[in-house]
Amino acid sequence: MARRRRQRTPRDWEQPGAILKGPPITLTCECGERRDLAYGERWQCESCGRTYDTSRIPADQYAEIRRLSLRYRALPVAFGALMALLAIVFTLTGNWPGVFFLMPVALVSWFVFIRPFHRKRYREAISGLPRWELRAD
Ligand SMILES: [Zn+2]
Repeated sequence: MARRRRQRTPRDWEQPGAILKGPPITLTCECGERRDLAYGERWQCESCGRTYDTSRIPADQYAEIRRLSLRYRALPVAFGALMALLAIVFTLTGNWPGVFFLMPVALVSWFVFIRPFHRKRYREAISGLPRWELRAD
């Protein structure tokens, strides 16, 4: 019997092209059904049949959100790259204890200090952006 691999649902940042396309648009139907859509995607609500077209959102406004999301995604990437670089430098200079010291310090400072602060700033930045009322077609 073939063992079936358990399917995990991808998080939005793992979807191919998510970074280039920008963040998903959360659409709430008039009947209360919710769905995350990519910009330009059309959606027909399963419960009531209304259709929505996200390309009606002004492109310049969506581009602003996309820029903001890219800017805030750059920090974790930069932090990870910096830590990797430090680990390489420590290794090359023969400073093995330095690597074992660096990793826990990096993890703790990321999860305890940087990440919550970063998320708060991101939420504040997002909340200042416009919201759209998409009408059903
Ligand atoms: Zn609906």
